[in-house]
Amino acid sequence: MKKLVRGGTVVAASGIFMADVLIEGDKIAGIGHFDDLGDSASEKELEIIDAQDCIIVPGGIDAHTHIDFPLKGFRSNDDYWSGTCSAVAGGTTTIAVFLPAPRTDESLAENIRGARIAGDENVVSDYCFQQTLSSLSPSMLGEIPRLVAAGYPGFKVFLGSDIAMNDRDILRVMEILRKCGGQLLVNGGNLGMEQFATGALTSAERADLSNYGRNRPEVIEAEGLSRAAYLARLTGMPIYAVHISSAQALGEIKKARAAGCSVVAETCPQYLLLSDEKYKLNYQEALKYTLNPPLRDRSNFEPLWSGLAEGSLDIVSSDHCPFNLHGQKDQSPSDFLKVPNGLPGIEPRLLLLYSEGVCAHRLSLRRFVEVVSTNPAKYLGLYPRKGTIVAGSDADIAIIDPRPDVIFSKRSMFERNDYTPYESMPRHGTIRATLVRGEVVFDAERGIIAQKGFGRYLPRFFGNST
Ligand SMILES: [Zn+2]
Repeated sequence: MKKLVRGGTVVAASGIFMADVLIEGDKIAGIGHFDDLGDSASEKELEIIDAQDCIIVPGGIDAHTHIDFPLKGFRSNDDYWSGTCSAVAGGTTTIAVFLPAPRTDESLAENIRGARIAGDENVVSDYCFQQTLSSLSPSMLGEIPRLVAAGYPGFKVFLGSDIAMNDRDILRVMEILRKCGGQLLVNGGNLGMEQFATGALTSAERADLSNYGRNRPEVIEAEGLSRAAYLARLTGMPIYAVHISSAQALGEIKKARAAGCSVVAETCPQYLLLSDEKYKLNYQEALKYTLNPPLRDRSNFEPLWSGLAEGSLDIVSSDHCPFNLHGQKDQSPSDFLKVPNGLPGIEPRLLLLYSEGVCAHRLSLRRFVEVVSTNPAKYLGLYPRKGTIVAGSDADIAIIDPRPDVIFSKRSMFERNDYTPYESMPRHGTIRATLVRGEVVFDAERGIIAQKGFGRYLPRFFGNST
């Protein structure tokens, strides 16, 4: 059966224009005007999807999410079902899920296998994995090339935090990944600096969220990213820097690139739109914004938006990692270092960037599509199958109705946790419908339409394995 997404403005690989998108099976068959087709085909042969006055963009690709993620004795709220329902309700059709690091006596392949079972049975969007590493065992090092060859090329290391890897081990991972054609993601930070910063906080200060930002000052994030870039230069390994939160960290990315290091840089809506003023709110309100890196001074907004517009930042991901305010974040009132850090954000990501980026004249419509879909698809090795609207691509489409002026509200969202950090924030636009591989999986009237398990795992290959 064919489908015709009719009457909208298409942000296609070849330009932005009024057109229809013809879908055959799970692929895009063409972009243009198909009036004859609509007149001659019977209803059984052609389903019309009305996109009158809407913007038709490639489905969003969220390159950084956490699903059912263990942290500080808790598990993040969304599972593969609710997480991917939230994704498609927000116009996102593919997510990359970061898996927790196994212990040294465990197997990476087993870790991935368990996550595949949970994912395959429950997802409604397509998905793939990035595997976190902490301490290394010889058997794990041996597993990495086999996993890359099997379609699991992405690994993430921490330069800081309590699962930080030492520089020598990071270099070993870089060398292995470079040789076998894998990818390395780096989380900035510096364990010694972090211990110094948190050690300087008195117990009274650790109960007062107005001090929250002091546990991870900007300079610590920047140091870790700088060091990662030096290690990358030593090994010739490209890196992907996750959740850049400050102008200082972005400065390190620019320096690294100027020195010849290949870096893909990611930021998140929370660092573009929310500031550390939130930590001065009353305790229950301020708790909603506990995450790592913490929110920064609002003077960072403009450099990050500019970086996104001019290309020093490549990708906007959600770093979705939601914990309930009640029963999770509020369980350690005397010590904010014990509060599970992370925010929900998989669902509002596209509309936050559309409303605050495109409508606020910070990003062009084309650049918006690049940072939420095309660039993540390229990095993940999924382009042009994903991340663009062109004949032959998967029919992954988000239809944005730009007209409604509404507000973000937890009540109308699919994210499972008990708040959204964007509550009551005004926005332009809603998601009218989302298609994954030609199937409408969400529309604004009916909600989630797809069955559990409709989504597929996307093995990723870069063709340069040796
Ligand atoms: Zn993360």
